[in-house]
This record gives sequence, C-alpha cells and structure tokens, in this order.
Amino acid sequence: MADLTPTPDRPGLHVSKPSPSAPARGSAVCHCGARATATGDVQVKALVGGYTANHGPAHQKEGRK
Ligand SMILES: [Zn+2]
Repeated sequence: MADLTPTPDRPGLHVSKPSPSAPARGSAVCHCGARATATGDVQVKALVGGYTANHGPAHQKEGRK
C-alpha cells in the first residue's frame, strides 16, 4: 500500500479505506508542489474535490503547468 502513496516524484491522489468501519484516509501530491492529507470520510471527500478542482488535471484544463 505504501507504494501507492503519492510523492513529489510521482504526484497523484490516493484514497484508502481499510474497512467499512474505519475512516477513509487520503493523500494528494500535485506536481505544482501542493500536498495534503486527510483522515475521515468527509475530510477525504473534500480533499478529493479540492484536488480535482484545483490541482492535477485541473492545471492542464487551465492551460498552465
Ligand atoms: Zn497543483
């Protein structure tokens, strides 16, 4: 599982939920240098939404790196 954790060398978004009763955990690293982690279903959902809207593919959408 550690291999899936994003790093500055391999930016991306990773979410894991070990079991239905355990809180989700998420981590995101963008090639622009932004990085964030979250624990808890609501927090992870916000992390994913924010990353998707502002980082990762969104950079290309805006035409800037
Ligand atoms: Zn970014």
